[in-house]
Amino acid sequence: MNIPICRTRQELFDITSEWRQRGHKLAVVPTMGALHAGHLSLVEAAAQHADKVIVTLFVNPKQFDNSEDLEAYPDTERSDAKKLAPLGVELLYIPDISEIYPPGFSTTVTIGGFSDSLCGAGREGHFDGVATVVTKLLLQTQAHYAMFGEKDYQQLQLVQRLVLDLDLPVTIVPCPTVRESDGLAMSSRNVHLQPADRAIAPHFYKTLQSLALQIREGEDIHTSVAKAQSALESAGFSSVEYIEIRRNNDLSPISGISPTSKTNSVTNKDGVACTLCASALELKLENYRVLAAVWLGDTRLIDNLPLA
Ligand code: AMP
Repeated sequence: MNIPICRTRQELFDITSEWRQRGHKLAVVPTMGALHAGHLSLVEAAAQHADKVIVTLFVNPKQFDNSEDLEAYPDTERSDAKKLAPLGVELLYIPDISEIYPPGFSTTVTIGGFSDSLCGAGREGHFDGVATVVTKLLLQTQAHYAMFGEKDYQQLQLVQRLVLDLDLPVTIVPCPTVRESDGLAMSSRNVHLQPADRAIAPHFYKTLQSLALQIREGEDIHTSVAKAQSALESAGFSSVEYIEIRRNNDLSPISGISPTSKTNSVTNKDGVACTLCASALELKLENYRVLAAVWLGDTRLIDNLPLA
């Protein structure tokens, strides 16, 4: 059976308002299309939370800082609809650009704090673009639940902040990262990897896993991060954009050390200098995760995982 598609706010409103009047719970899964098993896991989670699932497909020009990257983004509407059909999705919202950014559109949603670091550093306006389109999609669909993947961990945290700050009446549901059997996090960009690069790519996750293990075992944090960076470079990644340990909920760096500091000792509570290991810093490892972005040729990969 074909899933109904709507392309205007009005059509979306007509269908969803009837559902709401009948007392249904709605969940939305915002995507940029080119769907893979990671996206489909969000759809399955949505069906567990709500009785009406809406998937949105919208390649948001405002979150691309590079027009070539935007043009290269695959347009896969038909195959996406086919993948969603068996999952009980009741509506596909594929808005025309003017439904999101009508002529004269001049509002930008900016989330302060951690928008400019990690994936936001060097990609000017990226998270403003994300925050603006997510706000619009949440308001247009008026869903009770919205599913977001932990794969894009910084985006997930920003969306949680946005919903809290703007009192948006929606519950954000975080969904775990779905990986290929060799550990590579699924991504629409993986299709761009040349075979040689595809063979290197699984080292990304493996390196993050061993970094987390070393920190759990009490190794100095700076040394472990530096070793992980060299391991990635030796494995053949073209460059490491960032690799950092940050707090889960607000992505703040570990207090007492700056991500760029070269010193690897700190004074503990007894005034004794010690290495920057988790126990000396009295870190609760479950509150922290490692986040990283790397390049393989022209393809950018991101991943993250909890330290404990
Ligand atoms: P995108 O189409 O890349 O904007 O992603 C749409 C949603 O799917 C976002 O919430 C992503 O975090 C989520 N997502 C993408 N890849 C994965 C994955 N491998 N596992 C879980 N969620 C994912």
